[in-house]
Amino acid sequence: MIKVGVFGYGVIGRRVADAVLAQPDMQIVGVVKTKPDYKARIAVSKGLPLYALDNESRRIFEAAGYKMTGESKDLLIESDVIVDASPGKIGIKNRDIYSGLGKKIIYQGGEPADVADASFVAQCNFEQVERKDSVRVVSCNTTGLCRLLSAVDSSFGVDKARVVIARRATDPDEPDKGIVDAVGLDPVSIPSHHGPDVNTVLPNIKIISAAIKIPTTHMHLHTLMITLKDKSTTKDQVIETLNNTTRLVFVSEKEGFKTTGQVFDYGRELNRNRSDLYELIVWKDSINIVDGELYLYCGVGQEAIVIPENIDAIRALIGGYSKDSSIRMTNQTMNILK
Ligand code: NAD
Repeated sequence: MIKVGVFGYGVIGRRVADAVLAQPDMQIVGVVKTKPDYKARIAVSKGLPLYALDNESRRIFEAAGYKMTGESKDLLIESDVIVDASPGKIGIKNRDIYSGLGKKIIYQGGEPADVADASFVAQCNFEQVERKDSVRVVSCNTTGLCRLLSAVDSSFGVDKARVVIARRATDPDEPDKGIVDAVGLDPVSIPSHHGPDVNTVLPNIKIISAAIKIPTTHMHLHTLMITLKDKSTTKDQVIETLNNTTRLVFVSEKEGFKTTGQVFDYGRELNRNRSDLYELIVWKDSINIVDGELYLYCGVGQEAIVIPENIDAIRALIGGYSKDSSIRMTNQTMNILK
């Protein structure tokens, strides 16, 4: 059993902990929390051993009535792999406390790319990161783009990709960060950082990205325009390729999917933890080819799309698994549609 410790129990940390619990080859050693808020109550209700960040936060937890298993330094000793799910740019600060202990470390997409030995999306570069000391699971948007672009590139060749990302303003648990009655240019400058981030996993894809922020908490929506190298590519061939791509599912207008809200509503019926959507959502009827250029819309459930990637990253760092066997195991245990 691979012993996993999770640093940070917010949007991503909570989901990674649940996913680890579902794996037959992994065991969760504990989670690090910084303060005794309702998320600490959730961890305790799931029977997860709770570790305080440091001695000071341990005292605050104990004063609030929590029985702590230890502090983060203790969890580090107990774990084979640490999944750092702390807020963006904190992981790189945590790197100092991880170094020299011989542990495998997984960082998240809010960290700079050079925080780790490599950036990671399971279906794109599992083999390249095998047995490395650390990886960065890229952000939700980058994960979705990499799944789609690697499939299209390997079948038809991507000459150049352009993407406009309508980003959810905030996650449901952080309403004070939201945008209420406006569309934000996020960033105002073009290109946004998303294209270069795709290149940390797929270095040969030419991609330009722009991003806006919209008042929703559920999903990001990508509008993609991809110039293909193979000019004879048909719409049906693209549909067949994407249909055979793991962690990518079709929805269509004729089934009633006209908004991200309906996709989210569908997700609530999938018998998963919360309403989590692990797959990249592709509107099948948006797929079109005009003058050798492929157009389509994709939806990204930002809270959950990177969770299967974290699980596969754990196996890649430990080694001894093939890409396909890890993805299959993760998909089965997480009830991923295909
Ligand atoms: P979050 O704010 O929801 O959770 C972060 C957790 O880390 C909190 O529980 C916080 O108390 C804890 N924490 C704070 N300081 C810490 C420290 N020094 N050490 C350990 N834990 C600490 O953040 P999140 O949304 O889960 O994001 C985590 C990472 O995942 C970021 O890099 C983010 O960019 C990335 N990510 C987020 C999303 C998303 O939609 N929220 C999607 C993909 C990737």
